[in-house]
Amino acid sequence: MFSYAPAPESRSVVEIASSYGLFIDGAFDPSKDGNVFKTVNPATEEVLAEVASAGSEDVDRAVDAARRAFQSWSTLPGSERAKYLFRIARIIQERSRELAVLESLDNGKPIKESRDVDLPLVAAHFFYYAGWADKLGYAGFGPDPKPLGVAGQIIPWNFPLLMLAWKIAPALATGNTVVLKPAETTPLSALFFADICRQAELPPGVVNIVTGAGDTGAYLVQHPDVNKVAFTGSTEVGREIARSVAGTGKRLTLELGGKAANIVFDDAPIDQAVEGIVSGIFFNQGHVCCAGSRLLVQESIAEELLFSLKRRMSTLRVGDPLDKNTDIGAINSAAQLARITELSEIGAQEGAERWSPECQLPDRGFWFAPTIFTGVTQAHRIAREEIFGPVLSVLTFRTPAEAVEKANNTPYGLSAGIWTEKGSRILAIAGKLRAGVVWANTFNKFDPASPFGGYKESGYGREGGRHGLEAYLA
Ligand code: NAD
Repeated sequence: MFSYAPAPESRSVVEIASSYGLFIDGAFDPSKDGNVFKTVNPATEEVLAEVASAGSEDVDRAVDAARRAFQSWSTLPGSERAKYLFRIARIIQERSRELAVLESLDNGKPIKESRDVDLPLVAAHFFYYAGWADKLGYAGFGPDPKPLGVAGQIIPWNFPLLMLAWKIAPALATGNTVVLKPAETTPLSALFFADICRQAELPPGVVNIVTGAGDTGAYLVQHPDVNKVAFTGSTEVGREIARSVAGTGKRLTLELGGKAANIVFDDAPIDQAVEGIVSGIFFNQGHVCCAGSRLLVQESIAEELLFSLKRRMSTLRVGDPLDKNTDIGAINSAAQLARITELSEIGAQEGAERWSPECQLPDRGFWFAPTIFTGVTQAHRIAREEIFGPVLSVLTFRTPAEAVEKANNTPYGLSAGIWTEKGSRILAIAGKLRAGVVWANTFNKFDPASPFGGYKESGYGREGGRHGLEAYLA
């Protein structure tokens, strides 16, 4: 078999400083008590930078700055706010190569994904919401909808800059100001975004970035002068946040976990379905809330499909995220690797059959080979719990009704996929699935104009599209 020669993207397109402060009121400052944490490259375990850890006084200062900035930002004509958003979108495009390399270094995702998926979507999100800023009266929320005030936003590590865009773009378009906390393992792209805000001459205080871990997030959520909390992350932390916000009058949206069913019927085009299954679970190392982590395949084609799937998995290249040929990069952290390893061991102990292609994993860093489990039943933990890694659980079904029942047999309800030749079947099945997004004959496709969000333990509220404006309007 032919193999590709290495094609590494240059690391020198991004300059990472040895330390970063908090971005409050338009300036970078150390935290009040001087606390810092390190962020590492998960592919090498090399320390990339030291980052300030915000305590309660820092969060107070950030919320005060956002409150002051709200006075003028919220009264600026929408067409003026749009100019800033368009400017930010264009700077992101101009700096996209630098930002893509940075994201791959800090997160571990393959450069071809950060370059071709994350960054284009980040820019598209700012362009899209820039377009709404002067048309809010026509969005269907009354003739003159008002912003809420200061938004406290907390995001996870799987799509650091994209989740930031999903949070900040609609908030600013609608006239709110924000304090955002990125995840502790991937703070760098948010800090580079802070620099972009300065480059765009965004008024100080409109965007504030407070880095830190869960404590910093908890201070922000509990701050009495925050009007809206927007959280993306695990269901466990989402629950805690819902409890702490209850009764305060703060508005809340939660984008939480998932355990999506990717359903393949016997009339599906097998080769395309295999591509969709692979991108559904191995895209971004499976660190995707809407990943197709449960494959439901019709029994009559299961053997044929699994044969093709295994053959395709054997061609996946695991390794250096900065290599343009890499399909699967590094697991984001040691903690996440431990969780994936533990759940996979449980899968084998519970009797499912484990399979991975032969692949050589690098010695340093955090890695996990693409893995599938067959013979999985609905009672298995690997069929119920979110693994958030490159691990697929395969179940079979005989009738469409059984497929729907199994697909909906989960505490989550974020996404699902349907593979079939028949349009009528797509419509019939999609209507019965309790999932916020249903893809047909494709998977993991995103567009800023399309709303995204879940049912049940996947959270509430929608991000993206016209619907995404609602969460930021009174
Ligand atoms: P996490 O819940 O551990 O952390 C998410 C963020 O919350 C981080 O910034 C973290 O520092 C912060 N945090 C932790 N404890 C907190 C607290 N008590 N109060 C306030 N903030 C706190 O999740 P994670 O492991 O970083 O991310 C993975 C999870 O995110 C998965 O479950 C995944 O499904 C989910 N996710 C959902 C979506 C979606 O749109 N539905 C998108 C991406 C990720």
